[in-house]
Amino acid sequence: MPSYTFVSTANAFVLRGATIVFCDSRSDHPGIDESKIEALITPKTKAIVPVHYAGVACDMDVIMDIAKRHNIFVVEDAAQAIDNYYIDSDKNLIPIGTQGHLSTFSFHESKNIICGEGGMLVINDERFINRSEMYLRKLFFHSFGVLGFW
Ligand SMILES: *Cc1c(COP(=O)(O)O)cnc(C)c1O
Repeated sequence: MPSYTFVSTANAFVLRGATIVFCDSRSDHPGIDESKIEALITPKTKAIVPVHYAGVACDMDVIMDIAKRHNIFVVEDAAQAIDNYYIDSDKNLIPIGTQGHLSTFSFHESKNIICGEGGMLVINDERFINRSEMYLRKLFFHSFGVLGFW
């Protein structure tokens, strides 16, 4: 993940025992410097976490290519990126948060769309559907203590 982000981007992984390796930001915007990612990848690397800070897209063509070649996942932090787009190398407008294996959006009161402490997980890889549903149910029960909602 890039060194410039909100702490919860790192916390989500640290709380589950992951070791975080920070990658520097670009000099022209706060997104991850895609040219510095590959040198940080080791056999233990599980995921790249680009943060589309303030809705400014990271270079997803390069990031997805690196992830594919190293067989690792991409988890997009699209917290502030609702209704923002990535422009790919063919000049297509691609909604941010639709390319990584998983993407997260925040509905915190400081964001474009709010609902208290809510958020959204976008699953772009079928392998994560069942597991994500289990986690979200657990989270929901913890938050509201309601059983059998889903
Ligand atoms: C707001 C924000 C977060 C945190 O979102 P929460 O819903 O509060 O967890 C994470 N990353 C970025 C880039 C943000 O702007």
